[in-house]
Formats: sequence, structure tokens, C-alpha cells
Amino acid sequence: MTATDPIRVAIVGVGKIARDQHLPSIAGNPAFELAATVSRSGGIDGVPNFATVEALLEARPDIGALSLCQPPQFRYDAAAKALSARRHLMLEKPPGATVGEVQALQALAARNGVTLFATWHSRFAAAVQPARQWLADRVLRRVTVTWKEDVRLWHPGQAWIWQPGGLGVFDPGINALSIVTAILPQPLRLVGAVLEFPAGREAPIAAHLDFAGAGGLVATADFDWRQTGPQTWDIEVETDAGVLTLAMGGARMAVDGRPVVAGDDREYAGIYSRFAGLIGRGASDVDLAPLVQVADAFMLGRRKVVEAFED
Ligand code: NAP
Repeated sequence: MTATDPIRVAIVGVGKIARDQHLPSIAGNPAFELAATVSRSGGIDGVPNFATVEALLEARPDIGALSLCQPPQFRYDAAAKALSARRHLMLEKPPGATVGEVQALQALAARNGVTLFATWHSRFAAAVQPARQWLADRVLRRVTVTWKEDVRLWHPGQAWIWQPGGLGVFDPGINALSIVTAILPQPLRLVGAVLEFPAGREAPIAAHLDFAGAGGLVATADFDWRQTGPQTWDIEVETDAGVLTLAMGGARMAVDGRPVVAGDDREYAGIYSRFAGLIGRGASDVDLAPLVQVADAFMLGRRKVVEAFED
């Protein structure tokens, strides 16, 4: 193997996000070659499949990296085994079911001298870096996050998302928090929350969050899965120099209503480029800030039981 050979990567959990985004992004990046899958349901035609991560690690020492694309509750054991076998590792968002397990993986990656990349795909949306730069030297007054989508449309038949650790409406909501924690020049701390749990469900269908920052900055976030019709993934930041708006999940940016950025969806291409760069530099990228805000909401939030919801 030479320095320019592609990194052989395996996908673990061949579901919606693996098929929609990981497979095309790996195929489009010469730094990687899809070498295998770990799938309970059969994997991909023409690609060697293993029933377990242990079997793959044992049989394929040539595979240098794994992308874990299962739901968050089912990743830790596979992640710990891969890092202990000195393979580089990419985690889908959210990086785990608890803050503590991701910290444990971070320590394991460091001990084994391999890359751990806890991805936040929304941070690779086209307008996120321009927004961060525009906000860098502004005085911030208010941040308003509105993230409302139709769970039946985006998560049909996904039982895990309603189970403990599946995060409910925070599964999309954490994408908004991953953008906010990336673009603001100062941290926000959660000061209050209301979580709405449908009767008989173990995860919230809606949430309202209140945050505070330095200098009187206030922020709110409203997440709701009961939205039908147009979907809303917006962030508005009021500053001393105008109002910055991010729309379409960070793909578009406007200032005082004037469009500044309108980009294509290249989030996962950006993720795989960064993974290759991190591996090349021997670095890791694990930012727990969005997961900590969600954990804080579960710790501090008042719980309301609302009308039962059927998929
Ligand atoms: P999914 O399709 O419901 O599940 C992904 C795959 O994980 C399944 O097809 C299955 O693959 C494996 N899996 C499911 N349950 C498992 C279990 N109990 N134990 C072990 N493996 C299991 O989920 P998804 O929508 O791809 O989401 C996966 C992750 O990606 C989540 O963290 C989600 O937040 C994130 N994500 C999803 C989207 C999206 O649009 N759906 C977008 C961005 C990020 P096999 O049958 O191959 O084993």
C-alpha cells in the first residue's frame, strides 16, 4: 500500500442515511474505497458483508476505517471494538446515546492513536461557515431557532427514534443545535425547557428550549415533529448590524432579507473530505456541545404529556 492508495472503509448499518448519503459520498471521493459492510439485513450487492463488527475486524486488517451508520443506541460496542483494533472511526450524528459513552470513545481513540470523527452533517451546509464569519465580530441580541418537520415523512417506520436514546424530536433538533454551536462566537447555556411527550411514547414529539449567553443574549429553540405542509429549518440571529437568517437547514443565508448564500447539498461530501484530512493529520474531531445541550434539556426540561401520536 502506498501513501496515495485509497483508505479502505466499511459501512456499519446499511439503512437510510448509509444509502442516501454515505455510499454516494464514498464513491465520489478518491481518498476512500468502500471495502465491506456490516449489515444484519444483507448489505449491498457486490460488496463483502459481515454479520458483526468483530468478524470484519478479524478478517479484514486491510480495512483502515469504519463509518458507523446505525441508530445511536446501538453503536458503542462496535465503536469501542473498532477503536481498540486501531481503526479510524466516523460516527453519524448524534455521536452516541449518552455524553459519557462518547467521552469514553474519545479517550479510547487517543489511547490507540487513531482518528475519531463525530460528525455533525448540518455543519457542512453551504451557509454555515459564511454565517460564522459574518457573526464573528457582531454584538448578538437574540437567536431564534425554528425546526419543524413531519416525522411521518422523514422517519417512516423508525421505531428506534421513539425509544430511549433515540432522542425523539431532538434527532432533527440536534442538527439545529450543531449549527448554532458552530456559528455563534460565544456559548449558550440552557436555562429552561419544556418537552412534550405523546401519551404512551418514550421520546418527545416537540420541545421548547430557552438559552442565555453573555451580554444579555437570549435564545429560543422550537422543535416540532407534527408539522405538515411546508417544512421549516430556520435560524435567525439579531445583531447590532442586522438580522442574519439561515434557512433550509443552513443551505441559505440572508442578511436583512437580502440573499447572501444559496448553496447545493454537499454536506456528506464535506464530511468525507474532512475525515480524510483528519486521518492524514492524525487528528480527531469530537465536539460534544450539541449533545450536551440536548442532555441538559432532558435534565432540566419540564415534561408535558400531549395527545397520543401514531406513525
Ligand atoms: P435506519 O435506516 O432506521 O437504520 C440504519 C441501519 O442501522 C439499519 O438499516 C440497520 O442496518 C442498522 N440497525 C437498525 N437497528 C439496529 C439495531 N438494533 N442494532 C444494530 N443495527 C441496527 O436509520 P437512519 O435514518 O439511517 O439513521 C441512522 C443514523 O443516521 C441516526 O443516528 C440518524 O440520526 C442519522 N441520520 C439520519 C438521516 C436521515 O435522513 N435518515 C440524516 C442524517 C443523519 P442493517 O440492516 O444493515 O444492519
